[in-house]
Amino acid sequence: MTSLSGKITPMTSENEYIPKCALSIHAHPDDQEFTVAGTLAKWARAGCEIISVIITSGDAGSNDPKHGADYKPTLARIREQEQRSANAVLGVKEAVFLGYPDGELEPTLALRKELTRIIRQQRPEAVVIGDPQGVFYGNGYINHPDHRAAAQAALYAVFPSAETRLIFTDLLLAGYEPHKVKRVYVHGSEKPDTWVDIAGTIDVKLEALRKHASQLGEWDPEKMVREWAEEEGREKGIQYAEAYKVMVNQEEQPEN
Ligand SMILES: [Zn+2]
Repeated sequence: MTSLSGKITPMTSENEYIPKCALSIHAHPDDQEFTVAGTLAKWARAGCEIISVIITSGDAGSNDPKHGADYKPTLARIREQEQRSANAVLGVKEAVFLGYPDGELEPTLALRKELTRIIRQQRPEAVVIGDPQGVFYGNGYINHPDHRAAAQAALYAVFPSAETRLIFTDLLLAGYEPHKVKRVYVHGSEKPDTWVDIAGTIDVKLEALRKHASQLGEWDPEKMVREWAEEEGREKGIQYAEAYKVMVNQEEQPEN
């Protein structure tokens, strides 16, 4: 792209932002793979160290009539393993499971505090979440309330809790010093402002998503995932993209 002064300016420099370390925070195993996995795989391949925080272990993720309540712990272990396998495909270093009950998540202060502790401990440069405002997607999908709860708790853990010294002072007493996250990547926003080109990692995203076999059954998600990525990239003329609203919580400091 050529600017008025005739200098070449990169059109998508924002897309090339790669954090050194990132937390990917979601309600359920598989949320990350359905939404932001192409970005994470791209970042991981560029050297970013990523940790997934999965707030529930997806223990309500079966409508099979042969299972009752006693199946839930078994399903949770299966789904945690699926998430670890998906992470290995993406290049995500570690998964942290918080063990909240699936389908009952609320954006409580207790959850915000737990996420604050993790952010202060891991000190990520970027945090990747869903959209806390997303209720309706088209006419066909009512956003799961766990997704909104996870996103809200994570967003407010980033700001103000993680960076404000005198919020949750018992964390401070326990040695968790404040930490300022530079950027929050919010996926699923109605008004995205940042597009990550995932042409190079959409196959990896699909391979990771397929690790969630307990959820996919016989269904092949490829057609849908490619259509979503095409849709997300259309506005910018990108073949496959993941689109975000990015909150810049701290500007990059110029390097000396
Ligand atoms: Zn989910």
